[in-house]
Amino acid sequence: MTLHIQTPLIESRPLSLASGCTVWLKLEAVQPCGSFKLRGVGHACEVHHARGARHFVSSSGGNAGLAVAYAGRKLGVPVTVVVPETTTERAKQLLRLEGAKVVVHGSSWQEANELAQTLLGSGDAFIHPFDDPLLWAGHASLIDEVAATGLKPDAVVLSVGGGGLLSGVVEGLTRNGWDDVPVLAVETTGAASLHAAVQAGHPVELERLASVATSLGAKRVADQALECARNHPLHNHLVSDRAALEACERFLLDHRVLVEPACGAALAVAYEAKKLAEYNNVLIVVCGGATATLAQIQDWLKQVD
Ligand SMILES: *Cc1c(COP(=O)(O)O)cnc(C)c1O
Repeated sequence: MTLHIQTPLIESRPLSLASGCTVWLKLEAVQPCGSFKLRGVGHACEVHHARGARHFVSSSGGNAGLAVAYAGRKLGVPVTVVVPETTTERAKQLLRLEGAKVVVHGSSWQEANELAQTLLGSGDAFIHPFDDPLLWAGHASLIDEVAATGLKPDAVVLSVGGGGLLSGVVEGLTRNGWDDVPVLAVETTGAASLHAAVQAGHPVELERLASVATSLGAKRVADQALECARNHPLHNHLVSDRAALEACERFLLDHRVLVEPACGAALAVAYEAKKLAEYNNVLIVVCGGATATLAQIQDWLKQVD
């Protein structure tokens, strides 16, 4: 038994017609807490639980925090999530719904994270949102599930925030003997931390984040993400906030699933006419996300250029 579920893999007719290849969707949006994060976070929490952890601490007001809250509830381990004042009421509500203790502190994630670190006693486990080999090993299971169906894609499209999903997917490709399958790593222009690191050839920290795709908002990617870019065929793709938001709206109509702009970014690549036409079969990781509402997506669409 794992905390995450095996998700559906479906062919998308609308996305296939838009992109000019056969598009396969790995529907991580239907994980119990709404995103792929449960794969890695669930695995990390199980390992810490087995080692005797009695309290989980997270500093993510987004999907990573939700996954920790869910995992803690399922394992019977109390969870504290420290979030900055900027966290939406909805995100705090979702965390409390899972039974987590929510502590609001500071004006930025850095400040919330600093407090979270001071809460760690012996017997507590801190669960990082993207930079931990335990997470990557858990995320890799999504590629194992695809391989088990017998479908080998010609490329994988995914969104990149801190690069945990990327690191896990590359681990999954490697452990299934698919080192030749390229990854299209998608970011919004206002949160392009992997793109900046690849351009510079070394890890860099963005001065600021400016994107509605808050789940992609890591100023600096995990070193492992840059390793993936060096050792695995990888193409960087940047999309606008508008394209990510429009992809969310279209995907809701096409597949009746509401995802965050962070996920819309990856979908936008398929909706951009014929962007993927050089491939036959493309796998899109529909990473999901629970924090956006349709009203918010429509509001954002009025605000962005
Ligand atoms: C966390 C998250 C991402 C980015 O994942 P990283 O591992 O940080 O690169 C993308 N989409 C959603 C919905 C997320 O929750």
